[in-house]
Amino acid sequence: MFSQLEIENLLIFLLNPINNHKQHLTDSHRIEVIKNHRQWEKTTLDEKHNPFYKTISTTVKPRVKQQSDKLLIGLKPITLREMNSRKDHVYTGRVLSVTIIEETLSWIPSIHLVIEDANFDCERMLIYGILEEEGEYLISKLYTVGKKIHIINPYLRIGANDMKPSIRVDDISSIVMQSKSEWILNICRYCCEAGASKFCGKCKQAYYCSKECQTKDWKLYNHKLICKS
Ligand SMILES: [Zn+2]
Ligand SMILES: [Zn+2]
Repeated sequence: MFSQLEIENLLIFLLNPINNHKQHLTDSHRIEVIKNHRQWEKTTLDEKHNPFYKTISTTVKPRVKQQSDKLLIGLKPITLREMNSRKDHVYTGRVLSVTIIEETLSWIPSIHLVIEDANFDCERMLIYGILEEEGEYLISKLYTVGKKIHIINPYLRIGANDMKPSIRVDDISSIVMQSKSEWILNICRYCCEAGASKFCGKCKQAYYCSKECQTKDWKLYNHKLICKS
């Protein structure tokens, strides 16, 4: 038999989908992945101010043809938690569908992103093999926060140095953009909800749905690392 308290807790659990939905935001792996990503971004930003840093200002649309959804036919969906985070492995015949929740300022030597799947699990993603003249377009127009993508035959790579997992892509033709209607517009940088209307007064880059989300992003995910005025 269930106790009164257990029944009450179960009811609270069932009646509060919003609270449950937000539990993942304080997940320790998520915090670590996002903070590490932003630390990487800060380092990149500091290097950009170094006079020896090579900047390329041209924006060229990639020569890679936009892939069609037809490529996905016959592929079986996979989620991050179905992949073994300790095993370097290519999941052939599978497709991983995710939202980009952290973007980047650099494509050298690779594009660093953070992605989130339908279970709200997140992982870093590294895209290699970028042509120099395509880099700016990819990081500023295509692989930005709120975009939804499918990754064909996803490769879970264990980092040679840090031994941490990432989703690695060596050929951007294995990334299929989901249709525009699926993208999350004005994504809140903390809770990832669409339609955030407030923005960080300092950098004017990060959008939030509330003051609370902004405070959480600052304290929990270290927004200050990427906040530049
Ligand atoms: Zn929010
Ligand atoms: Zn900011």
